[in-house]
Amino acid sequence: QAKESGRNTYAFYTPSLTVIANEKLDLEARLRHALTQGEFLLHYQPQLDIQSGGLIGCEALVRWNNPQQGLISPARFIPLAEETGLIVPLGEWVLRQACSQARAWLDAGMPNLSMAVNLSARQLQQPDIVARVAAILEETGLPAETLKLELTESMIMGHGEEVVVLLQDLKALGIRLSIDDFGTGYSSLAYLKRFPIDEIKIDQGFVHDIPNDSNDNQIAIAIIGMAHGLSLKVMAEGVETEAQRDFLAQHGCDAFQGYLFSRPLPAEEFTRFLSGTGPLQS
Ligand code: C2E
Ligand code: MG
Ligand code: MG
Ligand code: MG
Repeated sequence: QAKESGRNTYAFYTPSLTVIANEKLDLEARLRHALTQGEFLLHYQPQLDIQSGGLIGCEALVRWNNPQQGLISPARFIPLAEETGLIVPLGEWVLRQACSQARAWLDAGMPNLSMAVNLSARQLQQPDIVARVAAILEETGLPAETLKLELTESMIMGHGEEVVVLLQDLKALGIRLSIDDFGTGYSSLAYLKRFPIDEIKIDQGFVHDIPNDSNDNQIAIAIIGMAHGLSLKVMAEGVETEAQRDFLAQHGCDAFQGYLFSRPLPAEEFTRFLSGTGPLQS
């Protein structure tokens, strides 16, 4: 029966727009609730100097610890949080939490590592974003140079001169700026020099097939060469194999993060790793 009716069976299984809209409303309400109930937490992925192998910092990545479903990945709730604007209070919580964790590690005598935090477009669009970042640094007592904000190409491209000024104001706080998922957006290398950024992160999509895909190899080499020509650092993300790391290191990449060294870790696990009292589970 199902086979014979062909396309109609497909329509039968497709949820109506009302169902989809209701599911969205439901998720939005649960996200709001989660924020007030403290159900979000951060994991921290180590970032290493690719030449020396030394630890240089970490990236804070948000997770939702749902009482029913357990840990939920950001891919499943960040898009809706962006759409609804909930990313603004959530992102602010992430920034504060990451900064106070970094401050706590400093207070515990750990080496001064950099703390990278993802910023969403909605957050950057807030008229008082610079003051908000400044207030969180002040409140947590984190030295500005420890903080690195990750932006994406689409957040800064095509928005004219006011974004340049905004990024300059952020930089004036003493923080660093990084372009995340580089190569997936406008993929224009030339525009980079207009922006006061410190680092670009080669998207894991390009890293994945290194060194077997010669196109990806060439793209990585081009990104590294161009970034260095503009005095920017290059971080590779999603490095899973020694062959990937070795290729990137050989072509001058500066830093990497990825499962090869470690998955993102809960704060306690990262702390044990930092203090040298615990093995690194990856
Ligand atoms: P992203 O900022 O590009 O983060 C890198 C993602 O790659 C993370 O996924 C990380 O766990 C994953 N990853 C790291 N190493 C490897 C590897 O070796 N192989 C593979 N396959 N994946 C690796 P995660 O934590 O699920 O985060 C996904 C995305 O969600 C992030 O991509 C970022 O865009 C967004 N996100 C996460 N936390 C936040 C946040 O606090 N605020 C905002 N606005 N976005 C966030
Ligand atoms: Mg990121
Ligand atoms: Mg990325
Ligand atoms: Mg990514």
